[in-house]
Amino acid sequence: MTPDVNSLLRGLQAYQLGQATLAAMERDQVWPTPLNYEIWMHAVANPDGPLALEIQRLLEVDKMISEATSDRLAVEFLPNKRLHDEIREAGDQLNKELDFVTSAIKKAQQSSLDYNSTLNLADQSLSLDVESKTLRDVIKNLSTATETVRTENRSLELMLERSTSEVQRLQFHLEQVRREASTDALTALANRKSFDDAMVHLCEQADETGHPLSFAVIDIDFFKKFNDTWGHQTGDQVIRFVASVIGRIAESPRFAARYGGEEFCIIFPDESAAVVEQVVEAIREEISTRMLKRRSTNEDLGMITVSVGLAQRTAKETIHSLIERADAALYGSKRNGRNRVTNVGTAPLDQ
Ligand code: C2E
Repeated sequence: MTPDVNSLLRGLQAYQLGQATLAAMERDQVWPTPLNYEIWMHAVANPDGPLALEIQRLLEVDKMISEATSDRLAVEFLPNKRLHDEIREAGDQLNKELDFVTSAIKKAQQSSLDYNSTLNLADQSLSLDVESKTLRDVIKNLSTATETVRTENRSLELMLERSTSEVQRLQFHLEQVRREASTDALTALANRKSFDDAMVHLCEQADETGHPLSFAVIDIDFFKKFNDTWGHQTGDQVIRFVASVIGRIAESPRFAARYGGEEFCIIFPDESAAVVEQVVEAIREEISTRMLKRRSTNEDLGMITVSVGLAQRTAKETIHSLIERADAALYGSKRNGRNRVTNVGTAPLDQ
């Protein structure tokens, strides 16, 4: 059982835990971002727990943990992130219920309107001259009853109208929250979670249709050095700039996301390898030819370049394998001098 980090942070060991966390982050060579701090704090607080063991395993395999991996660790292991996902799922469910309630209200409203017009017609016919006294009394009673029901129906309609607009307001609000939950705040691209969902969905679609699917990973070159030189604020602007080029060129039905830190990815459903290669080449080229300035001092920020790894999915290939092959292609681009696209096509990974 994970010790409650929030309680530890308000106890005698609070600063000890904070210092041990920073030391562990430095030892594992990860950026001291707020997210990493939270992840490593949970790992330090529970050194034998699943999170700490997973970090140990990752370090043994890769020797380094990227920000994309940190994002994954957060979603998988941090209680708040999990809660976030659960809230999203509850939102989905609520949305379905609201749809159901709205259509039920609309139906009730329609039948109330229909009933009202039937009553109006009956009322008109009943008021025609009739000879028999008994019949006239019956008609009179019916007429009064009709008028009462009509008045009640009118107030029911008003209530239904109010409920419908309240439900619609709730739905709109929920949609906004859901959009925020699936969008990366800095770049407005899709975030990691919605990338994961889209990848599953688009791979299933490719399996069904037999159409091609390509996947690109894009990483800003020397970003760490860039951040150290110009500071985090300028680093963020560069991330936003790269994201804006990617988002513009990789519009829907392509799916572009911030994969984590300075890494982005694009899923290309149903496009030939040649077209996909041209598109990522255009992204790489546009980024590398734009002159960026540091806004506070107007200094030239130098060349911003990206390296790209591209892979085409083989039939029924797992998501894990596709990402791994694109990652390997990305490292190929880095090894061969950066600012380039490496397409591994459908080649399997070297073992
Ligand atoms: P932003 O600063 O919010 O700018 C959004 C968009 O407004 C830019 O999209 C661009 O179309 C326009 N814009 C803003 N400032 C200027 C300007 O001084 N001149 C011109 N011609 N247009 C301007 P864009 O170019 O795709 O950039 C997206 C984001 O990338 C920007 O968001 C900013 O965060 C970053 N960025 C782009 N260029 C630079 C730059 O030279 N220096 C820095 N520090 N950041 C930049």
